[in-house]
Amino acid sequence: MSVNYKELLDQLYYETKDFAKYGKVANYIPALERISGDYFALSLITDKGVLYSSGDHSIPFSIQSISKVFSFTMVFRKIGTEIWDRIGREPSGTAFNSLIQLEHEKGIPRNPFINAGAIVVADMMLSVCNDPKSRLLSFIQSLAGDETIHYNPEVVASEKATGHRNYALAHFMKSFGNIHHTVEDVLDVYFHQCAIEMTTDQLARSFLFLANEGKNPINGEEILNPSRTKRLQALMLTSGLYDESGDFAFRVGMPAKSGVGGGIVGVIPRQLSLAVWSPALNERGNSIAGIEAMERFTTYTANSIF
Ligand code: GLN
Repeated sequence: MSVNYKELLDQLYYETKDFAKYGKVANYIPALERISGDYFALSLITDKGVLYSSGDHSIPFSIQSISKVFSFTMVFRKIGTEIWDRIGREPSGTAFNSLIQLEHEKGIPRNPFINAGAIVVADMMLSVCNDPKSRLLSFIQSLAGDETIHYNPEVVASEKATGHRNYALAHFMKSFGNIHHTVEDVLDVYFHQCAIEMTTDQLARSFLFLANEGKNPINGEEILNPSRTKRLQALMLTSGLYDESGDFAFRVGMPAKSGVGGGIVGVIPRQLSLAVWSPALNERGNSIAGIEAMERFTTYTANSIF
C-alpha cells in the first residue's frame, strides 16, 4: 500500500494535538516544567532514508529515558550476552523509578529500560570505555548524522539536585554488589544521558538502524547484528513504555521507547521509524498526544508489527 506520509503526519498533527490538554508537562525539574505543552512534532523516516515531518520537528527537547536505548545499544555491542548476568529482560509492571522489586530480586533490575536497569548500564559504560559521556554523545551524533546534538547542562544540574530516588536505586543496587563504580560517577553518566536534547527528525533517524536489521542504511555501518537487533526490539516492545508497555503494544503495536520529556520513538522493522513529541504526560509518564498519534498512525495505515 502506498501512503502519502507527509499528508498523514499533517493530518495526525491536527487530529491529535489537543489530546495534550488531558496531560501534564513533567514538573520534577524547572527546566522541564517551563516547556510549553503546545509543542507537537512528528517525524517519520523510511528504511530508504526519506524523511517526512510535521509540526515542531526542528526544536530540540530533552530525550530523557529514550537515551536508555542508546546506552544499552553501546554496551550490548561491546559485551553482548554478559549483560544478562546483571539485568533481567522481563517487563517490570511497576513505575520506572520503583524501588520495591529490587529488594525481592536482590539488586538485579527487571530490564534495561527502568531507571535501575539504565543505571546498571551506565555502570557498565564506565567499565567498557574511558569517557562514556563523550562516547555516548558521539555515538548518537553518528546514528543521527548530526553533530549539533548536545547535553543541556542546566538539566544535568537539576537532575543531580533532585535525583534522590535515582541515588537511592544506585546505592541499593551497590549494596547487592550490582554497581561497580562510585554512585556519583555512575549517576553523572546517567543524568547526562537523560539531559541530551534532540529533535524528532534526529530521533527518527537515529533509530533507523533498528528498522534495517541493525545497519544504518544511510552509511551502511552495522550497529548491531540482526539477532541482537531483534532482541533489543523485543525489549522495547515489552518494556519500552514502562508500566504502560502492554497497553501501548495493544493500542499501537510497535517496539518503542518513551521519555518524560514527552518524546516517543517507534519502529516497524524493515519499513520505518516514527518519532513524536508532545510534552504533556499521562500518569504513567508517557506523552498523551504522542501515544494517540501513534495509535492512529498504525490504525489508518493498517500497518504495525502484527
Ligand atoms: N530523568 C528521569 C529520571 O531519571 C528520566 C525518567 C524518564 O524519562 N522516565 O527520573
